[in-house]
Amino acid sequence: MFQLPFFSSVIIWAKEPVAWAMFLLGLIFGSFYNVCIWRIPDGTFWQTARSGCRNCSEPIPWYLNIPLISWLALRGKSACCKTPISIQYPLIELITAIAAVLLYVKFPFYSMWQGEIRISPTELIQFIHAFIFFSLLLISSMIDIRHLIIPDGISLGLVLSTPLVVYFLPNYTWQDALIGILLGGGSLYLVAWIYWITRKVTGMGMGDVKLLAGIGGWLGWQSIFPIILYSSVLGSFVGIVLMLVQRKKDLRFEIPFGPFLAAGALIHMFFGSNLLNLLLNHQS
Ligand SMILES: [Zn+2]
Repeated sequence: MFQLPFFSSVIIWAKEPVAWAMFLLGLIFGSFYNVCIWRIPDGTFWQTARSGCRNCSEPIPWYLNIPLISWLALRGKSACCKTPISIQYPLIELITAIAAVLLYVKFPFYSMWQGEIRISPTELIQFIHAFIFFSLLLISSMIDIRHLIIPDGISLGLVLSTPLVVYFLPNYTWQDALIGILLGGGSLYLVAWIYWITRKVTGMGMGDVKLLAGIGGWLGWQSIFPIILYSSVLGSFVGIVLMLVQRKKDLRFEIPFGPFLAAGALIHMFFGSNLLNLLLNHQS
């Protein structure tokens, strides 16, 4: 059962114009992420050419490129040649919009006090950090699901941009970040090595190692063990469900682990240590 405060807080935020602005901003960013998801693996990311229909290359007019609305208005089929348009487009836009609102609810950087607008720099920085982090993980997860690779541009990009996070994020030290990179990358590297020694197969890709190193750099070493816990639980659950659905006897079919690391990282970022404490306290 949902508690009443949950619904009343939803109603309060629905009346908040900034929350709606975040929703719209999320839709626009989400439609750009769709472009990234298609173009990064193709190596055409820096191409300036406007996107055309993926089937007949007909240029898409701006009014048919409006996030969410166009897909719904066209009922998921292109206007030029009636080819089905992947539901991935509206889904990524919607997920990004919802994430932008949730992160704004978590870090409400804007407030109105006696008719005066106030921006909290601390909350704003935390919001931007969380939103960029979410965005990179969303894009890398979708690419991982489609192509079973995690682009170095994202995983190593996270690692190399760690000094910026240390510089801007309040109450975050370079020790948190550096140990985070080493512990994140090191722990999965160890798993990959043990897998290789015992089974002579690569169970864990180097992409996952680099991704968790980057996550450790952005969230700090304290996040690594909760993230490994969440992502293994989620990964095993989905793996078992897939195994039952597809009636396969062994778990050695390829499902990418990157999206589960990303989901675990976002769960940890959003709920912090509260969730872990709640889970552990319920046990005892
Ligand atoms: Zn077409």
